[in-house]
Amino acid sequence: MVVYNFAAGPAVMPKPVIQQIQTELPSLNGSGMSIMEISHRSPAFDAIIQQAEARLRHLMAIPDDYAVLFMQGGGTGQFAAAPLNLATKHHHIAVLDSGQWASRAAAEAKRLGIAADVLATTKPDHYRHLPTMPEALAQDTYDYLHLCLNNTVEGTAYTTLPEHGDTPLVADMSSNICAQRYNVSDFGMIFAGAQKNLGPAGVTVVIVKRALLSDVEAVPSALDYTLFDKKNSLYNTPPVFAIYALNLTLGWIEDLGGIDAMEKRNREKSSKLYAFLDRSKLFHNYVEPRDRSLTNVVFNTGDADLDQAVVDAAAAQGLMNLKGHRSVGGLRASLYNAMPLAGVDALIDFLTQFEKEHEY
Ligand code: PLP
Repeated sequence: MVVYNFAAGPAVMPKPVIQQIQTELPSLNGSGMSIMEISHRSPAFDAIIQQAEARLRHLMAIPDDYAVLFMQGGGTGQFAAAPLNLATKHHHIAVLDSGQWASRAAAEAKRLGIAADVLATTKPDHYRHLPTMPEALAQDTYDYLHLCLNNTVEGTAYTTLPEHGDTPLVADMSSNICAQRYNVSDFGMIFAGAQKNLGPAGVTVVIVKRALLSDVEAVPSALDYTLFDKKNSLYNTPPVFAIYALNLTLGWIEDLGGIDAMEKRNREKSSKLYAFLDRSKLFHNYVEPRDRSLTNVVFNTGDADLDQAVVDAAAAQGLMNLKGHRSVGGLRASLYNAMPLAGVDALIDFLTQFEKEHEY
């Protein structure tokens, strides 16, 4: 049975990358040691981490005045690291509450004693569209404006960015990094855990404008951007295997034509599924069409028991992990970079058949 993994994360990885890992696992470059056993200070790993940075810089067109850091702690770690490193002048950040992960970011800043103003929220509308800025963003008030660019749980994504004047944007790209094109210089900082579009869990990518960095003493070393920049992400033991797999995944993205090609594929996959949902009498996607995510498609039947029956019947046919996030229920198909179009076709065929059998 062919298996397609629609999980929101950790998520599907490219098959050629898994095969290369399998081949190289017993002995990296004939060294007799696996990637999990080599020193992070060895020339072999140095070549890997440097290639990963160079590939990411090239793919995302990252300007030279931005540092690229490989850290640990996931997106959640960055909810703390961003305010600790960047909220140093006003100790005050602004957040547009577009969903669960944006509100978590605000809550984490507050935990650290940093004020976080939620400027707008679409919670009362179940986050079915993105919040718009209520008025011009007050200047020289906030250290940054936090945005979650792709809302993994609610299935929305920003394509155009809100007006933010001189206030830097901090972007959570955890679920759409390298899946669609953004202009890095529009942001002060970007972060993403690798485990959806870039490889396995364990490494977190941080892209930060160096001009925003200062020597801040109160930042734990493991979260300190300046320190990680100075030490080329090798201040302490990095997640060696995760960085190796991320590098291979970036190579796979390059081979397929880079981010623009990924975005084209992701648009094709998601438009096909949205078109099906818009035609369906049984399954519905409630997200405002202009705000629909390319990577996380949420839908439901309106009946929780039937939703569960769909998830179970799909799994029996190799269409795995379609259950929606526990906070919203329903179903969710995550269509990250490594999900082939054939997976979406198989899902649509299955849903069509299910709908027929249930006489809709
Ligand atoms: N931000 C977004 C948009 C996410 O989807 C997630 C996890 O799914 C997170 C942050 C949290 O990431 P992590 O689990 O790596 O801490």
